[in-house]
Formats: sequence, structure tokens, C-alpha cells
Amino acid sequence: MVADGNKADHGYDYDLVVIGGGSGGMAAAKEAALLGAKVALCDFVKPSPEGTTWGLGGTCVNVGCIPKKLFHIGATLRESIQADANFFGISSVGVKPDEMGQPPTLKTDQNWMAVKDNIQNYIRSLNFKYRVGLREKSVQYLNKLASFKDNHTVELVDKKGQTSEITASRFLVATGGRPTPLDCEGGDLAISSDDVFFLDKDPGKTLCVGASYISLECAGFLAGMSKDVTVAVRSILLRGFDRECSERIGDYMKEHGVKFKTKVTPSKLERVENDRIKVTFSDGTDDVYDTVLGAVGRTADTIKLRLESVNVDTNPKNRKIKTINEQSSCPNIYAIGDVMDGCPELTPVAIQAGKALARRLYGGSKEPMDYINICTTVFTPIEYACIGLSEEDAIAKHGKDGIEVYHREFLPLEWSLSRHDSNAFAKILVDAKSSDEQVVGIHYVGPNAGEIMQGYGVSMKNGLTYRQLTDTVGIHPTSSEELVTLSITKSSGDDAAAGGC
Ligand code: FAD
Ligand code: NDP
Repeated sequence: MVADGNKADHGYDYDLVVIGGGSGGMAAAKEAALLGAKVALCDFVKPSPEGTTWGLGGTCVNVGCIPKKLFHIGATLRESIQADANFFGISSVGVKPDEMGQPPTLKTDQNWMAVKDNIQNYIRSLNFKYRVGLREKSVQYLNKLASFKDNHTVELVDKKGQTSEITASRFLVATGGRPTPLDCEGGDLAISSDDVFFLDKDPGKTLCVGASYISLECAGFLAGMSKDVTVAVRSILLRGFDRECSERIGDYMKEHGVKFKTKVTPSKLERVENDRIKVTFSDGTDDVYDTVLGAVGRTADTIKLRLESVNVDTNPKNRKIKTINEQSSCPNIYAIGDVMDGCPELTPVAIQAGKALARRLYGGSKEPMDYINICTTVFTPIEYACIGLSEEDAIAKHGKDGIEVYHREFLPLEWSLSRHDSNAFAKILVDAKSSDEQVVGIHYVGPNAGEIMQGYGVSMKNGLTYRQLTDTVGIHPTSSEELVTLSITKSSGDDAAAGGC
């Protein structure tokens, strides 16, 4: 049953046209169609400056979460074979223990082209599945670039440059973002995350510019695949995240071969012999790399939408669409996902917001999207997952005396035979003045961080307290049980590394 205002007698071609077939747009289109709306979805990928292009599904599937996580899995698998396998009795046939009786490190080689091709083949199968999924839900898929003509009409341009128009009662803009180019002399010699997963040759010695999610994750998997990697950090690692956890990530990456150049930006890139790139940094130093990866943030993909022609307000600082409950300043135009001002740039957020909006527009729901307490994971070589406030933000909000920190550093069992130089870390922040100590932040740095944090996310949504955590019986032996057994407080001054099973 289609809710009021969406009747087929409105005279337009569609009830809803979704612009952008990424995580959010696809979820909203399918949900709206399921609820009886007549829906079209336009998705068109503008090639990167390197000419890279891809299929249906948006950033996450093609140039984001999926290839990134698969490269990360590949790199950690190699690291595990290299570092741990011998300790579990796995060896190459014929390799003998060395003179000290220690099993030799297994020598591994990781073929860039093989990993890249296998991942790309998998992604192509997903692109196909998404097309089928839209067809099954009766969503009309248009592989065309859309821009507004008026608030009920979009102009479409296909690959061959042919134009057409469609009309709709409502529009949903879910066009995401694209990498911000490096703004320095020769910056166009750098590739971005839109290209790195498609490279047709081994990236070799690589400079990653930027120090947040994308730069550190790419630096991590490249180093894990035994590349010579340097990260150029303008200020701090992972701005906005808990400082103590961010520093632990930096330390781990350094110990595992990633080099960091701090307080620098590239000021000039120039092509030198053998197709390599010489980078001169703001501190006057220089070095030569095979690949320079710019990961200095993303810019909302709104420039060609002609939003000004339909009076959709954008934030002049980031070009993102301003909304109230995902509704823009033009009442029949909505926005979700990375293109929406104030929205965390994460796939599940775009999906959830898209579904919630479709249910409100076509299913009679009144439920707004809840953007509070969203878990996230940084897939660096040592993973980091968190939910809620960082320690710095918790202190800013509750005052130093209003917060208690329960923390512990520990050696995960999976590392206990082979790796004694790295520890995992768990930290819970509580509102010390609330009854039963309300949890305001959970942080975990260690293996399987994303898998561990998801469940705690459910509890946080339901008002988790420290008392409830410690009343919960753990699963032994896991890293996750550390979070329900934390007892060392920071205020006690006791060492977070004390204790253990
Ligand atoms: P997108 O997925 O970006 O989709 C927008 C679509 O609209 C694109 O297909 C685009 O081509 C199309 N489009 C643009 N303009 C037009 C137009 N005018 N007409 C027609 N089509 C148009 N998030 C996580 O949660 N976990 C992760 O591990 C993670 N890893 C990431 C790693 C990388 C390297 C990157 C870059 C991002 C990562 N993200 C991750 C973020 C996540 O990918 C995004 O938050 C998510 O894809 C946003 O979805 P969206 O629907 O808003 O937009
Ligand atoms: P961010 O905007 O998060 O970070 C940009 C980084 O680049 C910062 O370290 C910033 O430094 C630095 N920077 C900005 N401008 C310059 C410059 N001119 N020169 C040198 N350094 C510069 O961008 P990302 O591209 O890393 O990620 C975008 C979003 O994608 C993330 O916010 C996240 O939501 C999403 N994402 C999620 C992932 C996940 O869930 N695992 C993985 C990857 C992306 P400074 O701190 O000094 O400003």
C-alpha cells in the first residue's frame, strides 16, 4: 500500500527516482519498490583521472570496503603464514629447523596480479548479482548520469552521450563521494583509492599521503604484502578517534615495517627515470617511489547534479546536501549516505538510512534514522573497532572526574606461541556519576576487532552499563571476553598490562 502523496495518478513517470546505485541508493530503491512504489535507479560511474571505471554497486563494492577488506585478509594471511605457521608445526616440506632449534620463518611470496585479478573477478560477480537484484524487485535500472532539470525532472546522459528525461514525484540523491585529489604541484601523478585496487602492475615502493582510515588501511595491506611503504602524516593519525588507540595502531604498524614521515605534506611530485615519481616534501626532504597514493579525504559528488536549479542547499565547506531527516530544502528531494551533510561515511549507515527513509515515505513508518552510537572498524594490520566516545571526547563531555576508564593490555591467545612483541588492548569508558556506570565508549585494538565490536553495538543501543558487562559470563578463551572482565581502572594507576588467565 503506497502512502499518501505517491499515488500513480500524480502523472509522473515514477513515484521515486534514486540517483546513485551505491550502498544507500540500492537499499532505498529496493525497499521502496517492495512497499509498492514505482522506482527507477540511475547509476553512472564517471572514470577516475586514471580512466578507471567499474560496475553497479557504488564505492563499497567496487573501490571501498570489499576490495579493501579482501586485500587486508590476504595481507594478514601472509603475515600469519610468515610469523605463526611454523609455531603450529606447518613448514615447507624439506625445510629443517635452524641451528638454534627454532623453526625457520616460512618464506612467502604474494603475487599482486593474482590477488588483484581474483578480487576483481569476485566483484564483477557482485555487480551482476546487484543488477539481478534490482530486476527481481522491479526497480528500473538506468546506467545513466542524472542531473536536475526541475524538481520533478532529471536529464539523463548515457555512455554514448545520448540524452533523455524522466519525471518523478520524489527524488533521492545518493551519489556518494569521490577521492579529493592531491593539491600540490604534480599532484595528478598520484593515484587514489579509486585506482589502487585495479593496478595492473605491482605497486612497488609506495607513498600513502594522509593519515586516516583509507591511507592507513592501504598502507597496512601493502606493507603486509611485503611492499616498502611510507605514510606521509600531516598532523596526527586517525583524527577524531581515541588518541591512545590511534597511537597503538601507529606503533604496531611501525613495528611491522611501515615508515611514517610526520608533520609533512608533499609539495611537489615529478616523473623521473623508470616511470618512478620523485616526491619533495614540505620539510625539504625528498624520495623516489613507484606509486604515490593520495588519501586526503573524499569530496561529495554533487557538482554535476545542478542542485542549484532546484534550490537544494549544500554546505559550502564540503558540497554535501543539508537535510532534516534526510529531506533537503526542496521538499520532494531527499539525500542519504556520503552525500548527506553530517552523515558518517560508512556503508551500513547509508543502507540503514535508505531503508528507514523508504519505510517512512512508502510504508507509513515514523521511525527516523538513528545516527548515534554507530560501531566502526579501522582495518589496519592490527584492527581497531570502537563505539561511542573517545576518551578525549568523554572527558570533554563529562569532565575528568566524571569518567572512569577500565582498560587492559593482553596477549591474544592466537599470538601466544609466536608473537610476544605485540599486545591487544581493550578499554571501556563509563559515566562515573551514573548508576551502575553507564558505558559511553568501547574501544578494542587487536585481532578480529570488527567481529568483536558488532555485538557490543547492540548492547550500547540498549543503554549498556558496566555492571551489565561484568554480570555477563565470557566465552573462554577469546579476546572478546576481555571486554566483560575489565577491572583495572585508569584512576587506580595500576598497569593496564597486569593480570591475565
Ligand atoms: P556510493 O557507494 O559512493 O554510491 C554512489 C553512486 O552514485 C556511485 O556508483 C556513483 O558512481 C553514482 N553517481 C554519482 N553521481 C551520479 C549521477 N549524477 N548520476 C548517476 N549516478 C551517479 N565503509 C564501511 O562501512 N566499512 C569499510 O570498511 C569501508 N571501507 C572503505 C574503503 C575505501 C577505500 C573507501 C573509499 C570507502 C570505504 N567505506 C567503508 C565507506 C563506504 O564505501 C561509503 O560510506 C559508502 O559506499 C557510501 O554509500 P553511498 O550509497 O552514500 O554512496
Ligand atoms: P578522512 O577525511 O577521514 O581523512 C583525511 C586524511 O587526510 C587525514 O589524515 C587528513 O589529515 C589528511 N589530509 C587532508 N588534506 C591533506 C593534505 N592536503 N595533505 C596531506 N594530508 C591531508 O579521509 P579518508 O579518505 O581516510 O576516509 C574518508 C571516509 O571514508 C572516512 O571518514 C570513513 O568514514 C570512510 N572509510 C571507512 C572505512 C572503514 O569503515 N573501515 C575505511 C575507509 C574509509 P588531518 O588530520 O591533518 O586533517
